[in-house]
Amino acid sequence: MTSTFPGGTILGYPRIGRRRELKRALEAHWRGALDDDGFHAAAAANRRADLARLVTLGLRADDASIPVEAAHYDHVLDATLTFGAVPPRLRGRLPGGLAGEWLLARGDAEDAPLEMTKWLDTNYHYLVPELDAGSTFSLADRRIVDRFLEAREAGVHARPVVVGPATYLALAKADGVRPIELAERLVPAYAELASALAAAGATWVQLDEPALVADLDHVATAELQAVARAGADAVRSAGLRVLLHTGHGDAAGRVEPLAADVDALAIDLVRGTAPATGALPLVAGVVHGRNVWRTDLDAALEALRSLAERGPVSVGTSTSLLHVPHDLDAEGGLDERLRSWLAFADQKVEEVAALAAALEGAPDEARFAAARTAIADRAAAPGVRDGAVRERLAALPAEARERAPYAERDALQRERLDLPPLPTTTIGSFPQTGEIRAARARHARGELDDAAYAEVLRAEVRRVVALQEELGLDVLVHGEPERNDMVQYFAEHFDGFAATEHGWVQSYGSRATRPSILWGDVSRPAPFTVEWIAYAQSLTDRPVKGMLTGPVTILAWSFVRDDQPLGETADQVALALADEIADLEAAGVSIVQVDEPALRELLPLRREARPDYLAWSVDAFRLATAGAAPATQIHTHLCYSEFNAVVDAIDGLDADVTSIEAARSRMEVVGALTEHGFGRGIGPGVYDIHSPRVPGADELDALLATATDGIPAGLLWVNPDCGLKTRGYEETVASLRGLVEAAARARAAV
Ligand code: GLN
Ligand code: ZN
Repeated sequence: MTSTFPGGTILGYPRIGRRRELKRALEAHWRGALDDDGFHAAAAANRRADLARLVTLGLRADDASIPVEAAHYDHVLDATLTFGAVPPRLRGRLPGGLAGEWLLARGDAEDAPLEMTKWLDTNYHYLVPELDAGSTFSLADRRIVDRFLEAREAGVHARPVVVGPATYLALAKADGVRPIELAERLVPAYAELASALAAAGATWVQLDEPALVADLDHVATAELQAVARAGADAVRSAGLRVLLHTGHGDAAGRVEPLAADVDALAIDLVRGTAPATGALPLVAGVVHGRNVWRTDLDAALEALRSLAERGPVSVGTSTSLLHVPHDLDAEGGLDERLRSWLAFADQKVEEVAALAAALEGAPDEARFAAARTAIADRAAAPGVRDGAVRERLAALPAEARERAPYAERDALQRERLDLPPLPTTTIGSFPQTGEIRAARARHARGELDDAAYAEVLRAEVRRVVALQEELGLDVLVHGEPERNDMVQYFAEHFDGFAATEHGWVQSYGSRATRPSILWGDVSRPAPFTVEWIAYAQSLTDRPVKGMLTGPVTILAWSFVRDDQPLGETADQVALALADEIADLEAAGVSIVQVDEPALRELLPLRREARPDYLAWSVDAFRLATAGAAPATQIHTHLCYSEFNAVVDAIDGLDADVTSIEAARSRMEVVGALTEHGFGRGIGPGVYDIHSPRVPGADELDALLATATDGIPAGLLWVNPDCGLKTRGYEETVASLRGLVEAAARARAAV
């Protein structure tokens, strides 16, 4: 901005490109099909297109309304590179330029990449900074400055965005020191960056400090506030103005101590309230940055007007728009009526612009009227409320979430299944080969008819079952070849959901997912997994697990309706799953696995909100599974996180067997579960499926020894960390062979 505060702004925009141009450029460069210059040109063209689009959509080009970030791959990685925070293990030998960036992001044969983990409570994965007591920081890379200059060349006076020092350190890991203690060394590097930006002509900088609104185990709020304040002061000392952005929940009670150190505050008003910061300019996040529903413009304008009584207010999004797809206009295939209720990133930018104009006294009446009509239409539309679904939920008996006591189930299941001690199994998916993907694409294009496609899938099931028998696994799976995605596949078979065609949202690096839209009451019109499981079971005498995705994970990886509590929606999904389980049982299936890899991901950032979340999420799982007969063995699977904070909830699921990611943390979870007195079946993963590396026999033996130390032999299962769909067959066969042999050695030892 130059003199006035921006009237409307967004806090960030999708970076992958409207047609995933950045993804294609990244992958072409990694394949060697694009050289460095070619990659930079493609990435820059994508950024320029986004800038032009934002101006067209109504953001001002001249007043720092438009944020620019630097990311090719990840914004936390950008901060790591900008401040020269080279991991200790790569110090002195990290290559410059793109080679160094990809080494950190992707690793190579010798060096592991930075760890990847979820950004706050989202499904976006960032690269975890790796620090130690010897870490030093300085302005090592000018990418953020370059982006500002690039935007200026395109006629946009932009607002550079960088992760703030408190959040950067809070989300880092460090050897021998608490990361936050490195703040004194890190903050001066922000001053260096700010000086360079000031010299380039920047006026505002956006510091993203979402850690301020989270409760973290290893760092206190007061420490975060002190570091965030120091970061803001450092940027201001270079003559720049600071927009402090928290997003991700309620900033009230967290940002007040920083009011004197920043020039404006961007807050989430969708999930939070306004902090008591007097007349400090606010960017009021009234447009939801993470969901896809059209904004109630009347309500938003009213909220803005009431805030305007205390000081300058501008219109913003509740978070960066990174978490929503680019453009609703690309969705030609979506039902017209549903489409009229939605807003993707571009439509949200227009909403921001419309609200800003209205706040300045020039409302676009037609736009407000259209929003009003759409919202009223949605509230009354058939399917949004389905009487049958609601009656069924309201009539649930008190014991609808209770199974028979575990001891009784366990005895019946042992008799029915007759498994050896330390049974071996996998998590569900087998490699999704090029042939399967190609067949799916041809089927989608109409080049392969249903019967021919089904035969390709059945052939794959035959191959997977034969392979598992040959390897000597005890409990088999069908391999999930029919599933494009573990949530979308379910959404496609449930009522109340819609799928998009181009609704890609970055998950990490070049990877994106297409979350389904859960718009109405959920039910399951007909069985859809039974055919596959029953076919697999017909090929073998060993038990084949039915394979379902759990209610919490289906919600976590979809865009969910915002007009009722999540717990109610979860219960509807649970009943749809219960129907599928009943049909699997009727088809003779003896084991059903209900995956909940996202259980930990949705855990609220604030402690006070956690008990309620854990209660409804556990309840929904229990509702989905409690109808199963005592002799049916219910498995669940958890991954992607460390689980120490949710051990109670894992126990509460009351699954007969829980498989859980454990190899990378060297069985850490075993200790937590043992301490808790967890007394049902447990399969801590004995090898990491995230890399093609085949685990050595010693390694498997050592992990199994740790597991047998903590877990009674009668409860222990042997399995990998997660599904195998991203792996190739070669390493999968070798790894599973090693797993079966290691289990045999361990059996002999117990
Ligand atoms: N059953 C799923 C699979 O094997 C589980 C995936 C997951 O946990 N993310 O692919
Ligand atoms: Zn998993």
